[in-house]
Amino acid sequence: MKKRLRPDLKYGNIYEIDRESLMEKGISGLFFDIDNTMEPYNAPLPSEKLSGWLKECIDGGFTVGIVSNAKKERIARFVAGFPDDIRDNVLYVYGAAKPSKKGFRKLCGEAGIAPCQAAMIGDQLFTDVWGGNRSGLTTVLVTPIDLSIEPGFVRFKRLLERPFL
Ligand SMILES: [Mg+2]
Repeated sequence: MKKRLRPDLKYGNIYEIDRESLMEKGISGLFFDIDNTMEPYNAPLPSEKLSGWLKECIDGGFTVGIVSNAKKERIARFVAGFPDDIRDNVLYVYGAAKPSKKGFRKLCGEAGIAPCQAAMIGDQLFTDVWGGNRSGLTTVLVTPIDLSIEPGFVRFKRLLERPFL
């Protein structure tokens, strides 16, 4: 059985992810956390770099999704910031309450894939990795983009993560 807080893969950032090898393992869904994974904490809009990279994912045959604990307004605004051809192809779940399984199940259902065909990519052990592992996804931990602008509760969770990293 998988250790619940151990990611299957680790990368410095999302752009380093070896998408071909994931595809070869039968993974066709890439699900992401936003804050400190796709963009710095609370960045209102996606960058051009992110949009370009996600377009490559979509053109390469992946279903792209977002599983976020943030509120609807935040996620809707962020997703609305993608160019049309990306926005129309990005699935998302807000208020996912990771590590709850509900957001992962919902996205897998919408993508029409089994959990074993999806990867969860995020920067936190207690939400992204734990939630992805217990839901049967491949889990990918990335280094947080910028720790200096996180609110206190996230910093506290990072202290708790330390022994597991
Ligand atoms: Mg995060």
